[in-house]
Amino acid sequence: MAKITLDNLAHSYLRDPKGEDDYALKELNHVWNDGEAYALLGSSGCGKSTLLNIISGLLQPSQGRILFDDVDVTHAPTAQRNIAQVFQFPVVYDTMTVRENLAFPLKNRGADANYVSGRVQDIARMIGMEAELDRKARGLTADAKQKISLGRGMVREDVNALLFDEPLTVIDPHMKWELRTQLKSLHHEFGHTMIYVTHDQTEALTFADKVVVMYDGRVVQIGTPQELFERPAHTFVGYFIGSPGMNVFDAEIDGSTARIAGTTVDLGAPYGALRGKTQVGVRPEFVQLHAGGEGVPARVRRVEDVGRHKIIRLDVDGQTYSAIAEEGHSVPAGADRITFDPEGINVYADDWRVAPESRMGEAA
Ligand code: ADP
Ligand code: MG
Repeated sequence: MAKITLDNLAHSYLRDPKGEDDYALKELNHVWNDGEAYALLGSSGCGKSTLLNIISGLLQPSQGRILFDDVDVTHAPTAQRNIAQVFQFPVVYDTMTVRENLAFPLKNRGADANYVSGRVQDIARMIGMEAELDRKARGLTADAKQKISLGRGMVREDVNALLFDEPLTVIDPHMKWELRTQLKSLHHEFGHTMIYVTHDQTEALTFADKVVVMYDGRVVQIGTPQELFERPAHTFVGYFIGSPGMNVFDAEIDGSTARIAGTTVDLGAPYGALRGKTQVGVRPEFVQLHAGGEGVPARVRRVEDVGRHKIIRLDVDGQTYSAIAEEGHSVPAGADRITFDPEGINVYADDWRVAPESRMGEAA
């Protein structure tokens, strides 16, 4: 197992990149702690696979270094990095049995036969394929083949890191939860450094202790699920995480107040001089509806009952926003104003969160 350091890393697929836009991966400095489980979350095309393939050595970065512990592996081939990587689509040997496929990474390194058979049995149980061990991989469903790929990725105990690139895409929905649970227990048992790539926030938030959020070739925030929820560092994190995502209102910020849709809103803390486009972000959980009184004028467009709570779609100044009414709370009759819980307010300048100048007890 190893700590993985990315030092000044960047990658462009172009031979002669001109500006930042030409980089699939923008400059990045980051340490993946030894033994931690990370989810790498972002929408399609944001650079997740590019980053993973650089770590495993399938891709040479156009700039920067990769260190495993303190050894520079930037130019080391994949085989020397001692990494297990599982891809989105199955990679199996069709002519081999399931057992032979699972045993392959161990036999390849000359492991003892008794150890191999015990370990293969354990892994077969984890992926739910004990009954198919003696079947040839050819003829199995894509779903079953992907489970074999996952198993092959998990079979070695001595790897530096385990990298998973959207490994559950082709897996049956009810099996996804099961396999994710197995991956977590594998992590608890062996404490490998794990990076799990996904575009699904639920997968990311349930798998990892720390989530790395990428947007447009850039890591925009690294945090616990709670940090991503409470203090999104970038408006993208606010939109992308949460259901529905964070409301973002255009606002003029003046000290500890904001003007939103012609109404003055108390921010609960002072903000210094801000540059660029200024906005206020409030998650739907922190929006309250009132009939009359103070607040930003809003019109209720529709109410969606989603089981445990209701989502209220609102029109504010011609734009659509959301509020959440918890179970047992109803939408007040004639509701036409919204107010915000100051704890749930975040201020953004050019999409990046700005910490208040002083608010007791809050880490900026
Ligand atoms: P993700 O895995 O998050 O979907 P990728 O890392 O695959 O994103 O891709 C990031 C960007 O790099 C995308 O714009 C994609 O089109 C581009 N890209 C990926 N692979 C290549 C390649 N081999 N050659 C050129 N461009 C690529
Ligand atoms: Mg990808």
